[in-house]
Order: sequence, then C-alpha cells, then structure tokens
Amino acid sequence: MAHWFDLGDVAVVPLIEDDRLLIEPGEFFPGLEPDLDDWYAREPWFDRAAGKLVFVIQSFLVCSADEVLVVDACVGAGKDRRRAEFDQLPDRWMQQFLATGLRPSDVDAVVFTHLHTDHVGAATAQLEPVFPDAPHFVVEEEFRYWSSEAGGEAMRRTGDYLADSVLPIERAGQLRFVAPDAAVGKHASLVPAAGHTPGNVCVRVRGSAGTVLLAGDTMHHGVQVRHPELSTRYCVDPEEAARVRSRLLAEELGSVLLPTHFPAPSAGRVRRGQAGYGFEFAADLLRTGQFRYRDWLA
Ligand SMILES: [Zn+2]
Repeated sequence: MAHWFDLGDVAVVPLIEDDRLLIEPGEFFPGLEPDLDDWYAREPWFDRAAGKLVFVIQSFLVCSADEVLVVDACVGAGKDRRRAEFDQLPDRWMQQFLATGLRPSDVDAVVFTHLHTDHVGAATAQLEPVFPDAPHFVVEEEFRYWSSEAGGEAMRRTGDYLADSVLPIERAGQLRFVAPDAAVGKHASLVPAAGHTPGNVCVRVRGSAGTVLLAGDTMHHGVQVRHPELSTRYCVDPEEAARVRSRLLAEELGSVLLPTHFPAPSAGRVRRGQAGYGFEFAADLLRTGQFRYRDWLA
C-alpha cells in the first residue's frame, strides 16, 4: 500500500525501489548476533525465518505548491552493480515518480544526502541527467572523497557508480556544492552528519503542520537505535558515525525521524525507555494511498 506524509503545506512522498531487502546481520554489522528478545529482532525489522535484517531502499519527494525536491535517488534502473539485488534493476523508481503525476522537468532540485550507490542511481539514465532543469546539491567534501583514491578503492567493491551516475551530472554542469547546513529549498535545509561518509547530511523538512528529519543513513536499522554505538561495515568513519548517531538520537528525542532504510512506513519517534531507546512509528503524519501532486494541490 502506497503512503506519504502530510506536513500541511508540504508533502513528503517516498519512492520505494525495494520494500524488503534482506541482509545477513553480520554483513552489515560484523559480529552482530541479534538478541531475539529485543524489539529490533522482530517484524518489521527482522525476518525470523531467514534470520536476516529487513531494509527498504527508497528516496523522497518533498512537494509544496511552488517547489518539488527529490532527496536521494536509490540504485536506479539498468545499472551494472556487483550486488545481485542492485544489478540491472527494472525501472521501479521512475514508475513510482510518474505515478505522482509529476514529470522530470517539474523537479526544481535534487539533493544527495551522500554519494553511496543506493542514493544516486535514478538521477541518471544512459549517462544523462534524468532531471534536465534541476541543480543537484551535494557537500563538496563528499564529492571529493569519492573522486579520490580511497573512494575509488571502495568503488571496486560496488562497481564504479560514480562514473555512470554522478559524473554525468557534473559534466552537464548540474552538480552544485553546498555547505552541510545550507537551505536547499523553501521548506528544506541540510543538517551536518559526517561520519557514515565524509560529507553525509540529513535534510530537515518543515511544513505548516509538522516537521520531519530525513535522517538518511545516520542509522540504517533499528538495532542502531537500540545500540547507537553500532556502525555499519560501510561507514567511512565508524566512530564518528556512532558519535553523530548518539547525538542525533538525544537531540531529536520525540521529533519525527525518517531514516532512509527503516522498514515502511519508516517515519517515527525515538522514545527513551528503561531498556534504552525504542522507535515508535508515526501514525499522525501518515496518509495511505497513491499521492498525486495535482489532486493534492487542489
Ligand atoms: Zn543507503
């Protein structure tokens, strides 16, 4: 069932490329043995039969009457990727985008929280930008890192997605470097969160009836809400990523977080209980059904 988030004069609409990606706990969190009595080791977070963590691959539209932003761009269609689940995907992402009634030329800006392969791919097709009129915002340090020797090393594991998904945007003159706390639209601003990657950011979205922090990859799974010190194998600076996550959880207690890879509906509030942090999905902002931009405006 499709869903979206109602912030009054702003709507946040997930575009879900994969609604249930199962991954071995040890691949993401080396040495992790999930505590089967804890909340993060139950549905929707954990598939007991498979013994695997549940992830979602998604990105977000931030829509208002006079502006449409795309925040992140998933894996994308038809790309050669080492991970079987990401390799040569059908065009689920663009189908979902078009189902909103928007066209690529309606997009005013694209924001990359960071430049990992599951956040950039759908912004290009056949080595050309998909959104012809949009600046694509990224923190400069992030782009420099992935263009460096160290970034290239990591890319040998995933396939060189920078070459097919980010450099075409730069060549077209559409890549714009922004500060990690820049405003990126009338209702959205970046929040610095370097650690997972060197220029990693969150995006705060403010509407007339609510605020959501698109928390990107500061946390990938509920186990990191329960154990903030746990960083993934894919974090460039795992210790800094853990510090950022701990600070964010403490500072954003009770506010609505929307981490990219949390299971649907993904948005929720962090609560502090006797056994540490928990996560309560936010029903108040949630609307079910297909989001259609023109109907929503009317
Ligand atoms: Zn990610």
